[in-house]
Amino acid sequence: MILVVASTNAHKIAEISVIAGAFGYETLSRADAGVPDFEVEEDGATFEENSLLKARAIYDWFGGTRAVVADDSGLSVDFLDGAPGVYSARFAGVDGPDADRANNEKLLGLLSDVPAESRAARFVSVITMLTPERAAPIVCRGEVRGRVAFASDGENGFGYDPLFVPDASEVALLPSPAVREALAGLTFGRFPPEEKNRISHRFRALEKLREELRR
Ligand code: IMP
Repeated sequence: MILVVASTNAHKIAEISVIAGAFGYETLSRADAGVPDFEVEEDGATFEENSLLKARAIYDWFGGTRAVVADDSGLSVDFLDGAPGVYSARFAGVDGPDADRANNEKLLGLLSDVPAESRAARFVSVITMLTPERAAPIVCRGEVRGRVAFASDGENGFGYDPLFVPDASEVALLPSPAVREALAGLTFGRFPPEEKNRISHRFRALEKLREELRR
């Protein structure tokens, strides 16, 4: 099965294609599938709503003839009542190559006086699939728990990865003891991509999608 990925974020597309590829699904970015670069308005209040909006826009562009998956994702910080949440990509109001840095600086600033025990956060990914084989959308949510670091650390990944330290209970799920020890207490920005992909919100959402498709 070939899945068209309804995203223009190259990092997301790369992660989805690796994870879905391991599950045996071929993926195609919307650009490679020939979809023009129009913007989908993400005016939903939840990850689920925005994920469906994105999937629906691309699915409709194909006239309902192709299987499409969309990811809407972000970081929810407990101390900020779930912010930046659905506004994660545009948190600091900066577009383009400086967006991630500006978003991270804004988040660190808002949490500057917040102690370690109050910096709990979670990454959330909602993957929605629309396919001609099914009448209803398939909606799958994945989460990974952690906390916001006091400073940016690491060059891997994208977005808030250099600020996100996954909980020890999440790192404990990595299969290699040596890797668990090496990555304990580090941000996703320091995680090799294949280790992030074992416990990430995106992996967990796609794993649920695979289970649903096997039914
Ligand atoms: P979306 O494209 O509207 O779903 O926005 C997603 C935003 O959430 C990204 O631009 C990042 O800021 C953040 N985000 C989502 N997933 C991740 C991740 O895996 N690592 C780091 N940041 C992420």
